[in-house]
Amino acid sequence: MSLHECSEHERLFVWQQYAWMAFPAELITRITALYQRVPLPEFEVIEAPCERCEASGKPRETSDTPQ
Ligand SMILES: [Zn+2]
Repeated sequence: MSLHECSEHERLFVWQQYAWMAFPAELITRITALYQRVPLPEFEVIEAPCERCEASGKPRETSDTPQ
C-alpha cells in the first residue's frame, strides 16, 4: 500500500474513506522516518497534491525535484 501525503497542507489521503484528512506534519515525518528505517516493499509515502492543491489549480512537482 502507499500513503499519499501533501506536506504543503499537512494532509493525508485515507483510502478507507477515499478522502483527504488533516494530518499533522510531525506525524507524517514520523511515519516517513519509520518507513526509512524499516523499508517495506509494499509500503511507500508519496508526495501528492491534495484536493486543496487541485482546487488552487497550482501544479506541484514531487519533493524529489531539485528547485
Ligand atoms: Zn495540498
